Amino acid sequence: MEYPIPKGVFDILPEEPQKEDAWRNSNHWQYLEGVIRELAREYGYREIRTPIFERTELFVRSVGESSDIVSKEMYTFNDKAERSLTLRPEGTAPVIRSFVEKQLHTQRPVQKFFYIGPMFRYERPQAGRYRQHHQFGAEAIGVCSAEQDVELIDLLTELYRRLGLKNLKVALNTVGDANTRAQYREALQTHFQQYLPRLSSDSQARFSRNIMRILDSKAPEDQEAIAAAPSILDFLSSEARAHFEKVCALLTTIGLDWEVSPRLVRGLDYYNHTVFEISSSQLGAQNALGGGGRYDGLIATLGGPDLPSVGFATGLERVLQAMEKQGMQFPPDPRPFIYFIPLGDRAREECMKWTTALRHVHIPAEIDLSGKKIQTCLQTANLLHTVFCLVLGEDELRSGQAQLKEMDTHHSKQIALDDLVGHIIRSYQRKITP
Ligand code: AMP
Repeated sequence: MEYPIPKGVFDILPEEPQKEDAWRNSNHWQYLEGVIRELAREYGYREIRTPIFERTELFVRSVGESSDIVSKEMYTFNDKAERSLTLRPEGTAPVIRSFVEKQLHTQRPVQKFFYIGPMFRYERPQAGRYRQHHQFGAEAIGVCSAEQDVELIDLLTELYRRLGLKNLKVALNTVGDANTRAQYREALQTHFQQYLPRLSSDSQARFSRNIMRILDSKAPEDQEAIAAAPSILDFLSSEARAHFEKVCALLTTIGLDWEVSPRLVRGLDYYNHTVFEISSSQLGAQNALGGGGRYDGLIATLGGPDLPSVGFATGLERVLQAMEKQGMQFPPDPRPFIYFIPLGDRAREECMKWTTALRHVHIPAEIDLSGKKIQTCLQTANLLHTVFCLVLGEDELRSGQAQLKEMDTHHSKQIALDDLVGHIIRSYQRKITP
């Protein structure tokens, strides 16, 4: 192949894919996006679409210089005017940039947004980890209370529930407020100091740059030190503790299963208070389906008003992969109601007329324009699972009659061509409102 697809990205195709990568079928994506849109509407989240690229500074300032994303994974380039731009690696910073720029807080006291779209990270590709992946994310801006955190956790788990996902774990933690983190960092410093020479080189770098990040490390040589590390829950200020306890209590009230995971800090710098992650035991190494948390300081950091916010993002590839692993059935591809096979020019013209007339009244009709032999055309009709099929040749045109074949029953019926469109419309109406 002279022009192969770049590493770490993939096509989403309408074809029957191989069994192990059925998650790349565009029909599955449309189904998932449909469920997401309906859910978001019911929870009062409105769609926001931001550009694929932003000024690099936006991510450096918000996600944090010491984060893996900013330090290693961004697709950054200069445009022709030598401005540094970056393909968005995540969705929250662009939403907040737009919110601040358009002063959206002046329109409503509470703004709830969702987005669906591609994100770009230069990561080592493997199952469940790509260089372009897609996220559904939601952000609620303007509310600092625990109920808002719980609404978002519920929204995300409700999505997974509607999709039929099972064996999920909701991990919950708090990263407290600035006071909590200052004390906790000090304790971590004392703790990790003794392990420093034995830590992975990434974690050694984190020790001075952002010590809480060591807790995020998956490196085997770090695990002993991480397991013995102090828990942030022992350093919570009274305000941070009250917020966390309220979140826990509310989750129990709404009947959600969760567990506290004191090592959960998540990879972005902007979180405070609640953080959460939902994982699937069915996904192997990349088992995080989605996660999020509260980021009360971010809007002010980006030059906006001092408003609290909380959000999450979930990766659509992993959601589809988890659904497939569970053998979930997706709705079938849409099928034509009638498939016309014209033989010859005059027949083509007639069939074109009928196809167009039917499509204009919202009936899915298809015409075979391949010019192939009738046998091949009939195979295509079968492949598309059309409800009816009609072959039109010179004989049919001469007699003004044709056989309308119902593919499921193999039953054929003689139809007068001058009533064909009317007949199809009546059958279609009977089919959808029997
Ligand atoms: P994050 O912004 O890192 O919390 O990511 C949110 C969600 O996006 C994760 O839980 C994953 O489901 C998904 N995700 C993140 N990075 C990737 C990637 N490189 N490839 C596929 N999915 C990803």
